[in-house]
Amino acid sequence: MIRTGAEYLDAIRDGREVWIGGERVYDVTAHRAFAPIVRLRARLYDMQHEARHRDALTCLDGEERNSLCNQPPRTQDDWRRKWRSVDVMLREIGGVVTRIGDETVGELWALQDGREILNEIDPQFAGNVDRHIARLAQLDLFHVSANTDPKGDRSLHFVQRDPDMMVHVVKETDAGIIISGAKYETAAAYADQAYLKPTVGTWTDEKESDCALGCIVGMGAPGVKHICRGGFAGRGDPADHPLSSRFDEVDTLVVFDNVLVPWEDVFFYRYTRAAQYVRASLHRYSAFPYVLRLLYVADMMIGAAMWNARQTGLERLQSVQERLADLVCYREGIRAHLTAAIALADRSPAGLMMPNQSILYAGRVFACSQLPLMMHAARELIGGQICVTPEAAAFAGEGSREWLRKFYTLNKEWDADDRRKLLAFARDLLNSDYAGHRLAFVQFAQAPHFDHLAAVYRSFDFAGPLDFVRKAADLSERVLGAQAA
Ligand SMILES: Cc1cc2nc3c(=O)[nH]c(=O)nc-3n(C[C@H](O)[C@H](O)[C@H](O)COP(=O)(O)OP(=O)(O)OC[C@H]3O[C@@H](n4cnc5c(N)ncnc54)[C@H](O)[C@@H]3O)c2cc1C
Repeated sequence: MIRTGAEYLDAIRDGREVWIGGERVYDVTAHRAFAPIVRLRARLYDMQHEARHRDALTCLDGEERNSLCNQPPRTQDDWRRKWRSVDVMLREIGGVVTRIGDETVGELWALQDGREILNEIDPQFAGNVDRHIARLAQLDLFHVSANTDPKGDRSLHFVQRDPDMMVHVVKETDAGIIISGAKYETAAAYADQAYLKPTVGTWTDEKESDCALGCIVGMGAPGVKHICRGGFAGRGDPADHPLSSRFDEVDTLVVFDNVLVPWEDVFFYRYTRAAQYVRASLHRYSAFPYVLRLLYVADMMIGAAMWNARQTGLERLQSVQERLADLVCYREGIRAHLTAAIALADRSPAGLMMPNQSILYAGRVFACSQLPLMMHAARELIGGQICVTPEAAAFAGEGSREWLRKFYTLNKEWDADDRRKLLAFARDLLNSDYAGHRLAFVQFAQAPHFDHLAAVYRSFDFAGPLDFVRKAADLSERVLGAQAA
């Protein structure tokens, strides 16, 4: 089914325990830090019902109409449709939101590919994964991702730390497992549920197996407490903060204070091998939407820089054109990786269409690691006026208004108000507290850089280059060692 915005809003008004800046929030849909992003999420639900968007955002599964976000990809065309649906959503809302569902649901598809490993524990667990994938589609839930524990002092062995530094099983009951600990999660305070799983790590120490846990947790379940970082929305005049006042996806330290997870929501527990599998495969689908978001970030940088070059008449300078071309190369590099990842997609163990892993993960490294440079290129193109331009109130206020009109009007097309709006947009995109936060999000929210590189290392087939060099350098067959036999 497809939910309406109103149904989503009702669902998250469930008495959940949310804190922000020391204040208890009783209704996340009404609080200034959450209301803009929650409204936007509701708008995306409503769009699915509108005749002009329905075909782009939904699909028929038998008789049932479902969100394309939640639909497992079975063909290359499914991926193209998903790309198109993200395009429609982001263009409609006029900005980039990462956690809107499609980016986290793929983590469950990756788990479905690990059925054999889950069956080693109990075949019921693989069945739970299948059921949750179907349930997500049937109920059109807003699903987020919980990997990262606080972890504490890693120079101490796990058993020497406060056990709650890593989410762990406290006890088993007939009804399910009781868990305790905490995870960092973007958007958790206004989501329906999270897929909780082991944090980034090697997972080779059997003693850590209490924390080798994968399950679904309801974000309003008893014992779940959301302690949120301060929001960017509502901090000032939205005219000065056109992005941060609307698109802040508030991050949360979610505390699990003896939370009961019913057996039907458990995917694995006390099983180190499953943790190893999850860490090696988690983003095989979800890296695609994660990287796709950066295509739109690139478009925002190109658009802002190009409008600025046009309005100031600097577009004709060759050095300005070259810097703009750098941004275009970044953008097209992302598009090329995504396009190739679909074109060379492989069938996964569960029969899904899996983007080409080596290309997708290399694309994630490219897109994330080059972003700081590209933000600087855009900042350089737009110039220092993004830092020094006064606020909208000064453009409206008597006394300053006339002077600002004089100095910010460029020609007959570009009056002071449009110049101010463009600079406010560019500041929020490139130079604000929010811009820094988004940059950190891109570098860490799926995993840190070393883990992105590890995914490339694991997925690239080194056989080709090895064979090429063995022949080109005329190496003997001895170098093949055991492979030669
Ligand atoms: C804005 C934002 C949003 C986030 N949203 C989510 C979310 O929705 N869900 C979620 O689960 N997590 C989320 N995270 C957390 C993110 O996944 C973690 O920040 C990340 O996994 C790193 O963990 P950590 O911060 O605990 O760093 P640590 O584990 O303390 O590591 C700190 C740094 O040390 C280095 N390092 C650590 N271990 C190694 C190693 N083995 N090899 C090499 N270098 C190493 C890395 O440079 C690493 O960045 C978010 C983070 C940010 C910044």
